[in-house]
Amino acid sequence: MMSQIGHWISGVEVYSKSSRSGKVFDPALGQPVAEVGFANQAEIDAAIAAAKAAFPAWKSTTLAKRQQVMFRFRELLENNKSELAQIITREHGKVLSDALGEITRGQEVVEFACGAPQLLKGEYSENASTNVDVYSLKQPLGVVGIISPFNFPAMVPMWFFPVAISAGNTVVLKPSEKDPSAAMWLARLWKEAGLPDGVFNVLHGDKEAVDGLLNHPDVASISFVGSTPIAQYIYETAARNGKRVQALGGAKNHMLVLPDADLDLVADSAVNAGFGSAGERCMAISVVVAVEPVADELISKISSRMSQIRVGDGRRSCDMGPLVTKEHRDKVASYISIAEQDGASIVVDGRKVNPDGDANGFWLGPTLIDKVPLSSKVYREEIFGPVLSVVRVSSYEEGLQLINSGAFGNGTAIFTNDGGAARKFQNEVEVGMIGINVPIPVPVAYFSFGGWKHSLFGDSRAHGEEGFRFFTQTKVVTSRWLDPSHGGINLGFPQN
Ligand code: NAD
Repeated sequence: MMSQIGHWISGVEVYSKSSRSGKVFDPALGQPVAEVGFANQAEIDAAIAAAKAAFPAWKSTTLAKRQQVMFRFRELLENNKSELAQIITREHGKVLSDALGEITRGQEVVEFACGAPQLLKGEYSENASTNVDVYSLKQPLGVVGIISPFNFPAMVPMWFFPVAISAGNTVVLKPSEKDPSAAMWLARLWKEAGLPDGVFNVLHGDKEAVDGLLNHPDVASISFVGSTPIAQYIYETAARNGKRVQALGGAKNHMLVLPDADLDLVADSAVNAGFGSAGERCMAISVVVAVEPVADELISKISSRMSQIRVGDGRRSCDMGPLVTKEHRDKVASYISIAEQDGASIVVDGRKVNPDGDANGFWLGPTLIDKVPLSSKVYREEIFGPVLSVVRVSSYEEGLQLINSGAFGNGTAIFTNDGGAARKFQNEVEVGMIGINVPIPVPVAYFSFGGWKHSLFGDSRAHGEEGFRFFTQTKVVTSRWLDPSHGGINLGFPQN
């Protein structure tokens, strides 16, 4: 019998009684391995009520005690992360080393949040007016909702919940229904770390559960990561309902290669950033923009490296796993056919892959497409799979204009040995996260993560100081402790 995955409400697993559910697949086997119940209204209400009930006590828990829980959670995560990596590989398909990598990047945010007391300090001005002091307090919002995508089932929730919890909020996390078990494992870890029941809850489901969070009056904020159309819907709905919202969307990341670049470094980087996690990363490189005359030489270096990529079951010694579902695999493969129809040239065709894994797995090998027309859907749309396009341009300016005319602005990279060109690029490119000779420029936890344009709706990015600003609201107190002299009636503003 398939295992059942329940919600996590008030520190216990609660099996769904709703009539709707989804199958969770092992993508390398192409088989369902678990069933997850999709929350109905009563379950949505129960998860939010649990978080609401836990809020007053957690908000009042001292910074020192909250910090101790954070440190214990960090230690447990560090010591048990190989178990979590197995769970991620089983439901997502990425290779084990990559699953461990995402946990480590999430753990960095936990480590950052261990320093919450420093970031939660307010400001104090003594004697702003005669005997009057002014100071600010940062307080938590209350119940915060987090909605995460399938591609980072551990890291993306960890972009938000360590900051939210250390700042005194309580959480309802709605993970992707495609790989929901990582969130449950993290919930159990919180309990072991001593987090009071109800501070961290997990609610499974699809649109209905998401809408339940968006429309519930007791949810103060929404942090969303996923595709652009859904991000836009989340932003508009949450904002209309008076909630604080940050909604991170899709991407189409370009790598600009100047003729003076080290082409071996570029080829390594393009392969790693294009095909790592089977291209299912929001910071994956999907377009190499080659400033001529380097395109032919670069394509030959990239394709020779691609022939060494071992595609297969992520539990074996492979470099790249399957795609997350059959539907997603077929959709990504359909872009290769579109490229053919649009007159691009398929240099390496991933449809012909011979994987080291079960024949039923959702396989698609790394694919390289040259001379992609700018009018093609292959160039314009996010593909979110192991498909790397090459576009040839004749100058830096043409490449920059191409990048800046795109709808997305998540990440980009420039490869060059010219510091002046790199500096010009960082100033002129309209993208939120920039790599200079670094292909996947995901900022470290104490900076903030987020793109421009259709890659982020809202005005706060994830983690870093912006994360703490998002998960707190400020009060400013003006106080006077009377000394023996009283000022008498004065209807004006105090001025000195
Ligand atoms: P998705 O948009 O399909 O799903 C994201 C979340 O929204 C899931 O929890 C899902 O259950 C929920 N959802 C799905 N349909 C919904 C609907 N109609 N109404 C309300 N909620 C809905 O995204 P995905 O396929 O899980 O993840 C891949 C996408 O996420 C890609 O577009 C990728 O670029 C993006 N992503 C962006 C970032 C970033 O930082 N900008 C990071 C990771 C992933």
